[in-house]
Amino acid sequence: MLSARKVRKSFGGVEVLKGISLDVAAGQVMCLLGPSGSGKSTFLRCINHLERIDGGRISVDGELVGYAARHGRIFEMNRREVAKQRRGIGMVFQRFNLFPHMTALENITAAPIGVRGLPKPAARDRGRELLDRVGLADLAQSYPAQLSGGQQQRVAIARALAMDPQLLLFDEPTSALDPELVGDVLDVMRALAADGMTMVVVTHEIGFARGAADEVVFMDAGIVVESGPPARVLDNPQNPRTQAFLDSVI
Ligand code: ATP
Ligand code: MG
Repeated sequence: MLSARKVRKSFGGVEVLKGISLDVAAGQVMCLLGPSGSGKSTFLRCINHLERIDGGRISVDGELVGYAARHGRIFEMNRREVAKQRRGIGMVFQRFNLFPHMTALENITAAPIGVRGLPKPAARDRGRELLDRVGLADLAQSYPAQLSGGQQQRVAIARALAMDPQLLLFDEPTSALDPELVGDVLDVMRALAADGMTMVVVTHEIGFARGAADEVVFMDAGIVVESGPPARVLDNPQNPRTQAFLDSVI
């Protein structure tokens, strides 16, 4: 589903991704761990072409991200093509970024109605179904300011799901939440994983990674240091940098 090969990215002469290669098969969950500044967010942003990569390639479901071949040459897509491609890649951020002037339900239905042209009644039905799925069926008419951080994050997840993404990216989705609100969000993510959603999750929640990930990737200073099944990487790390990082977060 997701394939990254030797992905490179620099900012102002500083290379922050130094050749990242990894694969996520359809229906699999990859958890991405690593210290602050190691390039995790940058890599996620490259996956949906929010950042233009300087080298290597990324493809989602067999399609190059941000580029298309025409007449035997590779061209960067125009904004419309990129926007269309991005619809298939949902993203959930640390800060929920809900539209403050819209209810929970309106937040979820805005893109399906505005971007995909779904009729309003159908979008609302589906929006209610998604709110139910994230445990918020009763809060459809609430505004973000009336919701807890954990509830807002679950609305954000429902909003991402409303576009029927083939791939969902999470960038530290629980790290801005009060500890008592983290569990509900992780439960929703676990349920998605169990339902077969393909997910890349940047997180420091080791328990989540251990239980939900098919593969754990540890990044440091722009490279993949170690990767493998959670039991190996988390409980028996081979690389001293992975060991030091795990000691610092557990
Ligand atoms: P954290 O755990 O703190 O979120 P991260 O692993 O997500 O860290 P990134 O945000 O990807 O790390 O940042 C990697 C490096 O790239 C950092 O040194 C950061 O300062 C730099 N960087 C990221 N985005 C930009 C940008 N737009 N312009 C310049 N430098 C950037
Ligand atoms: Mg980050």
